[in-house]
Amino acid sequence: MTSCTTSCNYVPPEQDVSLSYRWTSTLQAVDTLTPCPCGHHTSYTRCCGPLHDGAIASTAEALMRSRYSAYVLKREDYLLATWHPSTRPASLKLAAQQPSPTWLGLDVKQHKQDGEHATVEFIARLRYGGGKAQRMHEISRFVRDQGRWYYVDGQFPE
Ligand SMILES: [Zn+2]
Repeated sequence: MTSCTTSCNYVPPEQDVSLSYRWTSTLQAVDTLTPCPCGHHTSYTRCCGPLHDGAIASTAEALMRSRYSAYVLKREDYLLATWHPSTRPASLKLAAQQPSPTWLGLDVKQHKQDGEHATVEFIARLRYGGGKAQRMHEISRFVRDQGRWYYVDGQFPE
């Protein structure tokens, strides 16, 4: 293709499209730029971002993932908003936590739903300060109330 400068009026209308095609075909590159903290194979703006902005989580697993991302991003407001009022703490003081955790990854093992109740089993990896990486194995309980899922509590099987 010859280059076209000021001598013609050609404005490449496909430019944005071809760009997005290129992005789509190299999804890895996009995700490297804006990965979702929850580890899902899509970007934050298509995964947990909308939930953090108020969208309803379709499943307890989606809510759990978005809560993990909220811990990564220190979105205490979101964590409290998605915590069932019956077990919700007054605050989490994430910003003041010392040593502060570095979240290394999430692995969802199992998601079971029975009507308005669900459990999600997962392993989160994290490190406190310069310490060794550790695993947090939790089976979280969720309840759906007025169409929205809420975190209730968790068991730690290990
Ligand atoms: Zn996500």
